[in-house]
Amino acid sequence: MMSYLIAANWKMYKTVGETLEYLEVFLPAVKDLMKIDIMIAPSFTALSSASIKLDAAKKEGEYNVKLGAQNMYYMDKGAFTGEISPIMLTELEVEYVILGHSERRHIFGEKDDLINKKVISAIEHGLRPILCVGETLEEREQGKTLSVVEKQIRNGLAGVEKDMAFIDIAYEPVWAIGTGVNATPEQAQEVHMFIRSLINEMSKGNDEKTRILYGGSVNENNARDLIKEPNIDGFLVGSASLDPNRFYKIITEVMEV
Ligand code: PEP
Repeated sequence: MMSYLIAANWKMYKTVGETLEYLEVFLPAVKDLMKIDIMIAPSFTALSSASIKLDAAKKEGEYNVKLGAQNMYYMDKGAFTGEISPIMLTELEVEYVILGHSERRHIFGEKDDLINKKVISAIEHGLRPILCVGETLEEREQGKTLSVVEKQIRNGLAGVEKDMAFIDIAYEPVWAIGTGVNATPEQAQEVHMFIRSLINEMSKGNDEKTRILYGGSVNENNARDLIKEPNIDGFLVGSASLDPNRFYKIITEVMEV
């Protein structure tokens, strides 16, 4: 059975100093906690310091904490002002990359074909993509949730269906991100079950290592009920991951189920 993945997306919130202060509190709390995969995605500018800090901690004890990036470009190098390449990430021992986050799609206009190029490139470079998908409130109200999610997954993973074992997916309904309104466990389970059967079909049964995370206002009070659902394999957490004690509490809630 695969381990749960609990991932923190810090968005554009923490400086290098704040990142190090956080890890100072968080790392001792999760020392020797190997049962659950933990991922933290700080800002690009803090990745290097976080990586050094994590390496130092790993010399003193066992940590199942990995670094993630919040985005990347798909080319290795070139005239792409302001972009970050996969080799810049792997150099810093980054292992995961969040792709197609709803803020990338809706604020920065990223479309499925660009996201697909990024997913392909991430896999080629040994980075594990977390492909984010999810419907808007309007799409949900129009009964389009499953068709929107299906299109995002089929397009986002075109050409890498056989590599499903190296990919995780996050279902993040747009109306639940940063709003304090989480999907109910039943609403999330319905979509997760659909995604599981979709990726099982796409990968011809090679989806056993793919975690389907739920994201959208996960916190220490709702984590336990959500994780009890059979097809929820972890969380992608925004706001509640910004405080090390709250993020740790979410992890302990998952451990106890
Ligand atoms: C996110 O940005 O991926 C997210 C789920 O945010 P929040 O937890 O704040 O809703």
